[in-house]
Amino acid sequence: VPWIVRDARFRAHRGAPGHPECPERLAPLEAWLDAHPEAAEPLALREATDPELLAVHSRPYVEQLASLRGGSTWLDPDTYVAPRSVEIARLACGGAIELAKRVAAGHGRAGLALLRPPGHHAERAAGMGFCLINQIAVAAEALRFGMGVERIAIVDWDVHHGNGTQHHFEASRDTLFVSLHRYPFYPGTGTLAERGAEAGLGSTVNLPMPAGAGDAEYLHAFADVVVPVLREFRPEMLLVSAGFDAHVRDPLGGMRVTTGAFATMAAQLLEVARDTCEGRIALLLEGGYDPEALSECVREVLAVLSGDRVVSALHTPPTSESSRRLVRIYGEAHGTRFASVRRLPPR
Ligand SMILES: [Zn+2]
Repeated sequence: VPWIVRDARFRAHRGAPGHPECPERLAPLEAWLDAHPEAAEPLALREATDPELLAVHSRPYVEQLASLRGGSTWLDPDTYVAPRSVEIARLACGGAIELAKRVAAGHGRAGLALLRPPGHHAERAAGMGFCLINQIAVAAEALRFGMGVERIAIVDWDVHHGNGTQHHFEASRDTLFVSLHRYPFYPGTGTLAERGAEAGLGSTVNLPMPAGAGDAEYLHAFADVVVPVLREFRPEMLLVSAGFDAHVRDPLGGMRVTTGAFATMAAQLLEVARDTCEGRIALLLEGGYDPEALSECVREVLAVLSGDRVVSALHTPPTSESSRRLVRIYGEAHGTRFASVRRLPPR
């Protein structure tokens, strides 16, 4: 049974009526989890500490957040802060850390954290894009400095590029960041040319997708690039920025990924984690703005993590002209580092 992080206090993070990042996003899923306590084992959470946050965020920004406790404001036109938002973001971040550490401690148990607000857009010195604290980056640093986990892979399948996560790790050779996202789209980063910096050159792998991409594009990018890259990197721990806003029913994403394809991506990552790092995989919720679609996807992912779904039983769509073209483009951009590139026919 996988671990799960969820907390009723997250519901107090609420903005103006009609804001898509709202407590109601999780309502159908929470109701299902309440009715199925056997589906996952809850983990207790606590607020992330200042030293944990300071591994990723600047001191002035952490102090700015502290000063906003109890107040209401906007960090940018999308990103609200309600009176309990800072407390809740720190709790969500502490939940991410506790989950990552519990999974890293072993025993082959995977985990999922239903965090609100999301985190992957948050930069070192600024919140943005609904995000206050970059939970996945803080969790990865907590594993590195708290548990000596060195090689960490982060896969980000949220429909938006994880700019904050990329920027934090782009000079790190020991952190692989692989992102599938719609491009051009918010937040504007995530081109093929962004491949990391300095010692980390090559450890950032962006896989931009055209609007309307669906199962064929995502699953062939997974099979031909994401999975081979992860196997070559051989992580000690796999973290996933699991947004579900590329779902076909999502009101913001404009993509066509089905629930079954999300389950397949989770199953493939679980398989990689089993083969390379004794099954150490933790998924952190990012976006996903259709409550029923989000509930379906997370239930399927939990079934995968608990071993109730078998990879071979999941559908794999045929390649399409678009998926073949994308994989060729990815191969050319990321060079001979990847096995998939070496399999491509000469032009
Ligand atoms: Zn998103």
